[in-house]
Amino acid sequence: MEDKYALFLDFDGTLVDIVERPDAVSVDPALPEILLHLQERLGGALAIVSGRPVAFLDHHFEPHRFDMAGLHGLEQRIAGNLHLCDPQEHPQLRRMVERLQKVVAERPGILIEDKGCSVAIHWRLAPQEKEFALSTAHAAVEALGSEYRLQHGKAVAEILPSAAGKGKVIERFLHSAPYRGRRPIFVGDDLTDENGFKTVNAFGGVSVRIGAGETIAKIRLGTPADLRHCLSGWASDGLLPFNVDDR
Ligand SMILES: [Mg+2]
Repeated sequence: MEDKYALFLDFDGTLVDIVERPDAVSVDPALPEILLHLQERLGGALAIVSGRPVAFLDHHFEPHRFDMAGLHGLEQRIAGNLHLCDPQEHPQLRRMVERLQKVVAERPGILIEDKGCSVAIHWRLAPQEKEFALSTAHAAVEALGSEYRLQHGKAVAEILPSAAGKGKVIERFLHSAPYRGRRPIFVGDDLTDENGFKTVNAFGGVSVRIGAGETIAKIRLGTPADLRHCLSGWASDGLLPFNVDDR
């Protein structure tokens, strides 16, 4: 039955709780085993789809190497074949990261997360800095031109190459084995995931949003812990999650 589904999972706010500092995230010790069992059940059609670099995600799932889309799809590991993004191909962005680090040096609540081929500006620690952080991000992306765009998120704005997007990369997976021909399920929690929901809905799949907020997802779940509970039941007992209709 489960050879019908391909499972795509966002990371922050979906598999793990969002934390104040993006580098302080922690993975529930039971999660890697759950994902391994599910991966097996799904004939390998399981991937993590995140704005984080693949190297960061791999580090948190050591020693496992799950299929992944990192940096909103700029990086991929499909059926074990890895394609990474080279920061040297983004010299303008690299210069901009240096400038941004100088601009926020006097603003301790704002964090610059340098991901190599993209850069995120976080203000979760200093909500009063939201306006300053957003206008800085807008000015930076304007200076970079049309090859880059701004991706809004929860207390974060990210500058990334225009080609990146979760919807596009999920579609790429769905054209590759072992994902091809399967019904996609995508679980996410943030604005960047809405783009993925759009693709999954277009493929007749199942879109699941974690937490509050306007969404085009068909199903809503409360928290990352709720999701882990659903995934655990699916992994161990074959219980299809989210009342997925077995078409
Ligand atoms: Mg997320």
